[in-house]
Amino acid sequence: MNRREFLRHILAGALIVAFALFPRTTEAVRISDIRSPKRRTRPRRKSTRFIILHTTEADGSGTLETITRRGTANYVVDPGGRIYRIMGKAQVSIGCGRSMWNGLTNLDNHAINIEVIGYHDRIPSGQQMESLRYLLKSLVRSYGISAKNVMPHSQVAYGRPNQWYSRSHRGRKRCGMIFATDPVRKRLGLSDKPRFDPDVRVQRLIVADDYLEEVLYGKMGELEPAVITAQATPAVQDSEDEDVAVRTVEKGQTVWEYAGDEYADETTIYLLADGRIRRGDELLQEEFDFQNIQPGTRIAVGYIYGGYVTKERTPYSIARKNWNNPDTLYITDGKIISGDEISDQKIPAGTLLLFRR
Ligand SMILES: [Zn+2]
Repeated sequence: MNRREFLRHILAGALIVAFALFPRTTEAVRISDIRSPKRRTRPRRKSTRFIILHTTEADGSGTLETITRRGTANYVVDPGGRIYRIMGKAQVSIGCGRSMWNGLTNLDNHAINIEVIGYHDRIPSGQQMESLRYLLKSLVRSYGISAKNVMPHSQVAYGRPNQWYSRSHRGRKRCGMIFATDPVRKRLGLSDKPRFDPDVRVQRLIVADDYLEEVLYGKMGELEPAVITAQATPAVQDSEDEDVAVRTVEKGQTVWEYAGDEYADETTIYLLADGRIRRGDELLQEEFDFQNIQPGTRIAVGYIYGGYVTKERTPYSIARKNWNNPDTLYITDGKIISGDEISDQKIPAGTLLLFRR
């Protein structure tokens, strides 16, 4: 679908809805409901405790279409201040990916994701700020979310160990960083923010981006955001593709590059080149030669091995509510299917199930 067709699609299909949720006294702000195809399959959120703010890092008109197609946000605010609702009110959007806050992981299950079309180091347009303030106020009120729990994506994203960092780390990306600065928060009506990183404090994570840390918790975050724009992003930013849950070992690489110090954990799952599937701790016991891992081996880090689906062991009995989560994986004949793509009527016996808690 090209851009013109897409716009026509929006105009024809979208209901321009002023929700009862939003007071009618607020003048011109309306929300356009765009139906993401992902509305058909996405589960409900487990809770609604956070609002996570993103920047698209592009101002192109294709962005809204991409977000809609992939269901990567609940709301989008465009540069003209128009608000679009992409997913059902209580539905999961996949905006955060790998994320953690105070020990809680996979925040997409607990958060409303808002994509602001713009950049992590620039203040959004005046109309955008106004609309965002309005949207935040309504959501904060109706879900009882504290200002502290309205955070940029970069504050909750984290990276798995990789060739640059041997430990799980904060600073995987700078998405939405501008929304951590005091002047911007003030304009958005957010009266409070986190004063420290709870996961770094207890050493669940290390800091991989000192500059981001300084904006989130230090003096830099108190300054007018103009100061921020001069800073370059480090080369290792977003080195990891968060959408890829299972990575394939390439020639000459070691397990360390894929799983870091989690390589022998029971939550690191190996799909070996010979077809066997083993947990890291099992391989360790078998004295597996981790040093000489075969190229083509696939590794999923941070997964619970659910075992095989049978008539008696249904996906729900194995993974409970996670059975249709997008990050749940069904492996059959070496093919990997995501939980939100699977039809529960048609899962062949012998399909292996991996899920995240
Ligand atoms: Zn983001």
